[in-house]
Amino acid sequence: MKKLVILGAGISGNTAALYAKTYGKKNLEVTVITPNSKWNWIPSNIWVGVGLMKPEQVSFPIEPVYVQEIRN
Ligand SMILES: Cc1cc2nc3c(=O)[nH]c(=O)nc-3n(C[C@H](O)[C@H](O)[C@H](O)COP(=O)(O)OP(=O)(O)OC[C@H]3O[C@@H](n4cnc5c(N)ncnc54)[C@H](O)[C@@H]3O)c2cc1C
Repeated sequence: MKKLVILGAGISGNTAALYAKTYGKKNLEVTVITPNSKWNWIPSNIWVGVGLMKPEQVSFPIEPVYVQEIRN
């Protein structure tokens, strides 16, 4: 079993992890280490700053995304 460890679950880390699981070898174990359990869509933070969006509209839990990918 090959192992891939990704530090950070931002745009880069999540993209790398999902591509590795989708297109990588079947026996590849992908581990994402992140201090946050939620993905924050950073580009939309400006709308939070000016009061046009709420913080909960620009972030969501990461775990269900990975569970869904693994099931597929
Ligand atoms: C206001 C704003 C608007 C933007 N708008 C756009 C846009 O319209 N279009 C566009 O293309 N780009 C935009 N960007 C840029 C875009 O958000 C960044 O290029 C992108 O977020 C970079 O992604 P990243 O995964 O490299 O880093 P990040 O998104 O910063 O992710 C890094 C992750 O690593 C985690 N981390 C840090 N240290 C550690 C550690 N030691 N161990 C584990 N995890 C760690 C952090 O918690 C974070 O979740 C914008 C940025 C800002 C600030």
